[in-house]
Amino acid sequence: MTQPASAAEPIIVAQDVHKHFGSFHALRGVSVTVQPGEVVVVIGPSGSGKSTFIRTLNALDPHDGGSIVVDSIPLQGARNLDAVRREVGMVFQSFNLFPHLTVLDNVTLAPTRVRRTSRAEAQQRALDLLRRVGIEEQAGKFPAQLSGGQQQRVAIARALAMDPRVMLFDEPTSALDPEMIKEVLDVMKELARSGMTMLVVTHEMGFAREVADRILFFDAGQIVEDTTPEAFYTNPQHERARVFLSKIL
Ligand code: ADP
Ligand code: MG
Repeated sequence: MTQPASAAEPIIVAQDVHKHFGSFHALRGVSVTVQPGEVVVVIGPSGSGKSTFIRTLNALDPHDGGSIVVDSIPLQGARNLDAVRREVGMVFQSFNLFPHLTVLDNVTLAPTRVRRTSRAEAQQRALDLLRRVGIEEQAGKFPAQLSGGQQQRVAIARALAMDPRVMLFDEPTSALDPEMIKEVLDVMKELARSGMTMLVVTHEMGFAREVADRILFFDAGQIVEDTTPEAFYTNPQHERARVFLSKIL
């Protein structure tokens, strides 16, 4: 039976999350709940904890206080790591493709190794995903033979190959030449419209205004604003958000 959206189980529940690097307190009590299908854009000054926060959500960086539950899986130390990483796909600023593998093999590697999908099935699915991100014809090339925008689209296809329930993006267009930013944002917009739950660290305001349901504004390891794109860009409530926007707009 279909439930009304408000009654859906949240897919991410972070409560009072803390993270230290040595004596440095990088996350200072971050709480947020994300519903299935929500698109959440995370913005804030450099060093405010945006990357650290999204890395705690798939346990790339373990948190050291508070609790995180992803798709009903509690993140606790080394437990549940494989389970949660199957649920959460991640795309980085620097693509992080395997340079010695073809595009096709980059996309089939995890499904064949981790999910034990047959090679033929993984290849068919990889080609479907490469078509979805618009680069099916590059399947036999190596990452270094592709443009940055194409490499980032391979990275998105690779993450999707694991059928994640959540996709995390950390400044996916920051390393790209301007003419390649749109092709990556277009793929992300299509993904958002398909109903994928997404957390996206980006300062691309056009993307945020077009597809984000919420904006989280980070400052000094805390979420100081959690609101709609419209409210955030037209009337930020906090002085630090106003100062930040005046610098990037
Ligand atoms: P943002 O993504 O918002 O720019 P980060 O989450 O990368 O910020 O970093 C938040 C703070 O934590 C910064 O001051 C950064 O120097 C520090 N930090 C991040 N990762 C590490 C690490 N591995 N070791 C030590 N300090 C770190
Ligand atoms: Mg960062």
